[in-house]
Amino acid sequence: MKYYVLTLGCQMNISDSERLKTVFDHMGFVQTELEEEADILGVVACSVRQKAIDKVHSRIHLWNKWKKDRNIITFATGCLLPADKKKFLKSFDLVFETNDIAGLPEMISQYGIVTPAGLNHHHEQKEFWDIDPSYNSPYEAFIPIQNGCDKFCTYCAVPYTRGREVSRPSDEILNELDRLLDRGYKSITLLGQNVNSYGLDKTGNELSFAQLLEKVGEKGDQSEKPFWVYFTSPHPRDMTRDVLEVMSRYKCLAKQVHLPLQSGDNEILKKMNRKYSLEDYRKIILDIRELMPEATIFTDIIVGFTSESDEQFENSRRALAEFHYNMAFIAAYSPRPGAASALWDDDISQEIKKERLHILSDVFIKSAGEFNEKLVGRKIPVLITGRSRDGKKYSGLTEGKINIQFPGEGEDRIGQFHQVKVCESTGLSLTGELVL
Ligand code: SF4
Repeated sequence: MKYYVLTLGCQMNISDSERLKTVFDHMGFVQTELEEEADILGVVACSVRQKAIDKVHSRIHLWNKWKKDRNIITFATGCLLPADKKKFLKSFDLVFETNDIAGLPEMISQYGIVTPAGLNHHHEQKEFWDIDPSYNSPYEAFIPIQNGCDKFCTYCAVPYTRGREVSRPSDEILNELDRLLDRGYKSITLLGQNVNSYGLDKTGNELSFAQLLEKVGEKGDQSEKPFWVYFTSPHPRDMTRDVLEVMSRYKCLAKQVHLPLQSGDNEILKKMNRKYSLEDYRKIILDIRELMPEATIFTDIIVGFTSESDEQFENSRRALAEFHYNMAFIAAYSPRPGAASALWDDDISQEIKKERLHILSDVFIKSAGEFNEKLVGRKIPVLITGRSRDGKKYSGLTEGKINIQFPGEGEDRIGQFHQVKVCESTGLSLTGELVL
């Protein structure tokens, strides 16, 4: 029996798919990339983007046509708004929450397909977090530490698709980390919608995010093999100085922070319900610069949010110039179905949004370039992540997640750490040469 899964959306969905794969593999199914030969076809869908939902509708339309000629089972799971779920219930055979992935063998057995795992299922009622994921990469992995969101930013639908914040027990997280380190993983990212709110839903009974990071940091100090641990995404509101202090103390905690700003204007931030001001945000940046002067800082920013005036946009531009980001993911605002702001007028024209986007891109490309220029001539550790088709060039990432390319023939070094001498900055990325 073969299964096919289409995964849409963000890293959280990709991580959920890794657990889904394990469940299928245990059932004895074989994954295929070809929809035409699959017996079970499903999607890990994303309601946050209308395009992704349209894609799901077109797939299920096709799959349901195929049902005339062959026996197939279809399923939908993922990050779904109640309204999409309702629609999917009419077109898919199975619709379930990602939290219920462990119950898949039982759901499928109701279609008359008996698998060894299906028979055993009652004896091993596994919970979602207990599923050992089938990681997509042999050296880079994501560990979900928290699911859901309590923040209700007005432009975002996640609190409605994934529900309230739930922290995963810390001993499970640390066990998963141990297993990854035993297998030699080099880049590990703690994942959640609001990673640094970790533990707040269980205050007193669970570690805080800073304490969790400390435990991770201690593992790095005890390990002979080097590795880098990242986390994404934190929310500025809960970004306390103790988190940054822990990061600065341990070598395995990578000196890279992704801190979404979203807007540099206090009124727009209020409208977005971000619950911090530019001044609060600046304080965190100053703390990062003080405690980890070498850290790279990434951000997310939205231009053209409902009613954003020229002046308000100018405040974002100024903030971007002030904070010297290494990377900024800039989005032209578009209303998300299910989000509170979808009810408001999307009153900034596409032209203006585009113009604002270009202005901001130029600002952060300049600051990233200045940072990279300072690395020229230095020898730095790089995690090699890819190789050109002709085998002559490697690409990799620095600890601060800056892309670097360098020549390298001979043995395959993908997934290994190497020292690389930085020769040149090409703006957003670097070129160098391998130091052997
Ligand atoms: S954007 Fe806001 S509401 Fe959406 S997941 Fe992030 S913190 Fe939660």
